[in-house]
This record gives sequence, structure tokens and C-alpha cells, in this order.
Amino acid sequence: MKITQLNPFILHVPVTGNRIADSSNRITHWGTVGVIVETDAGLRGFGYTGTLGYGPADRLIRDCIADCYAPILLGKDPLGVRHLWQTMFNFPGIRWVGRAGVTQMALAAVDVALWDIKAKAAEMPLWKLLGGSETERIEAYNTDGGWLSLSDDELVEGAKQMVEGGFRGIKIKIGSPDPGNDLRRIEAVRHAIGADVKLMVDANACWDLPTAIRVGRRLADWDVFWFEEPICCDDVSGHATLVRSTDTAVALGEQLYSVDAFRHFIEAGAVHFVQPDATRLGGVTPCWQAIDLAASHRLPVVCHAADMMQIHQHLSIAHPACTMLEYIPWLRQCFEEPATVEGGRFLVPQMPGAATTLKPDALERFAVS
Ligand SMILES: [Mg+2]
Repeated sequence: MKITQLNPFILHVPVTGNRIADSSNRITHWGTVGVIVETDAGLRGFGYTGTLGYGPADRLIRDCIADCYAPILLGKDPLGVRHLWQTMFNFPGIRWVGRAGVTQMALAAVDVALWDIKAKAAEMPLWKLLGGSETERIEAYNTDGGWLSLSDDELVEGAKQMVEGGFRGIKIKIGSPDPGNDLRRIEAVRHAIGADVKLMVDANACWDLPTAIRVGRRLADWDVFWFEEPICCDDVSGHATLVRSTDTAVALGEQLYSVDAFRHFIEAGAVHFVQPDATRLGGVTPCWQAIDLAASHRLPVVCHAADMMQIHQHLSIAHPACTMLEYIPWLRQCFEEPATVEGGRFLVPQMPGAATTLKPDALERFAVS
């Protein structure tokens, strides 16, 4: 099989309620920047990364796919995806300016598309190709009712509805200018959902270490399951200090671009729940390595879902280290087989591929130039 063409795309898909915010970002659309890889066998691979829908940055990723990676891949066999990843990552002129950011997110989109082709060629869903079992029903936790832009009443009402809908875990955003505001909201949500539902909090890397320690020492009062991205996402020693200073587990990883970065956090004892995201890390290929690395340290993995679960559901089903997966339903309308939760757990996808195949009308409705 040979790769004959790469067609990059940019989609901007409206988020729930058309506007959401956390401590660091306010958005109206989720950016889905990716590529359709065509082959001479007629198989088409779909891959993408997730962005905040900022056009100028999305165009950099799209152009990187078209100008940097497409010339490397044309004529190659897509099934040799691990070696192709090495070739693209180590291409001297790209590596010199890359290894993180735009080049790594573009590489992620391409790598996912190649795994999609590989699974379609094997006529099996990606989880099966990766060694997963049909009986694995991954627990979902819901993030899409916990935004900082919601009023206290909306937050509490939304939390109740998610629990009534079968979710056994929810995550709320914190990181207000006044942390007392966050503590009040955490207490209200815990009271509303009862003691048996997992409650996670996410500061989106907005606080300094003293603030994070002060807030972190209060979280055990409400049995918070993990404290996500409390401080600057690259600060290894700061997270290690926080881990030693509080009783609540620390979660991070969604903004890390390399397996080495995960190694630094894990070896420093700076993380409890490891949260790689294939769409930032360079694709399925390195994400599997990051999950293996966490597993070798006996740390639980809960993938971050900038792909809105389509790809990570496969990784989570396939890898025993993955215990839960985030649920945010913004892109469900775009895919032929959207990730689906019933009774608080993900259904096991059945179609061959990585569940990334877009409906034709998604490209028509949401494409931007
Ligand atoms: Mg997060």
C-alpha cells in the first residue's frame, strides 16, 4: 500500500452553549485541525489534533502538515507507522524548529491518520489492534458541566443532572482570582452529588505554588479525587513540592509534548494521575509509550481528551493502566461512530479504524479556511 495524497482540514465546531471558560481560556468553538490521508488501496485515514479554534494558529498546524510532513509521506507504506513517526520527528529541518508546539500537534494528526489506516487495513477497531478486550468498559467522568463560566446554581444543577445521567465522576474547573470562591463551589457540588461520586478539580495551571498548596490542603475536606494542573504545567520541582505538601492526588500531562517530559515528572514523584494526550504528544505512537512508562511506575493513567474521546477511547480500552476517560461531547455530531457513554461507561467502538472518520457533512458544515 502507498500513500497517494494528504488533504489537511480545519474545522471549528461550536462548544456547549456556544461559550465556555476555565481559568486560562475562553472559547466559543473547538478547533479540529487534521488530515485525510489517501492510499492507492482506497483506504482513507483520518487524524486530527485539538485546538482552541484560533484561526492563525490552526493555519500553522495545517500548513505544517501540508508543507513538512506530506512530502515525507507521499509514496510510503502507511502500515509502517512507528518507523514513519521516527522519520518525520527526526527530519533535520523540522526537528530543528520542532519537537513541541505546532510541529508536534501536526505530527499527532498525521500519526493518528496512519493508525486509522492500519486498523482499517486489519479490519478491526484500533483498540483490538492494540491488544484490547471487548469486555473492557471504561468509566467516563464528565467535564462538560463544570466550567468556570457557569454560575453557582448552574454548576450545582448541572452536577446533579450528570449524576442522574449515570456518571460516577465529574470534574469542575477552579482557579478563580479569589480561591475562596472555588472552595465554596467545591463544597456546594460535593453536597449536591453525595459522597459516592468522584469529584475532580482542575485549575488549568493558573496558580503559583503557595496558592496551590493553600488550596490543595483544603481539598481533602471534600474528598477531591485529584487536583489537576494546579501550577505552571512545565514546573517539575514545583509539582514535586506540592505532592509532598498536600494529601490530595495531583494530575497532569495534557500540555506535555514528549515522553521525556512525562519521565521527568514521574521520576521526580511530581504526579499521581498521568494524563497524556495523543493529540499533543505526537500521536498514538508516543502516547502508548507514555502510558507504558506510567504503567512501569504503577501509576494510573487517565488520558486527556482534546480529541473529544474518539482516539483515547481506543487507547483506554487497550491499555490496562488506563482507569477512566474524560467525557466532553462537543464533536459527537462530526463522526461516523461517535464516542458514546451509557450508564457512566463508554461503549466499545465496533467500526474498523480509530473512530476518527468524519461524516461528509461535518466537513461541509464546520470547515474554515
Ligand atoms: Mg485539564
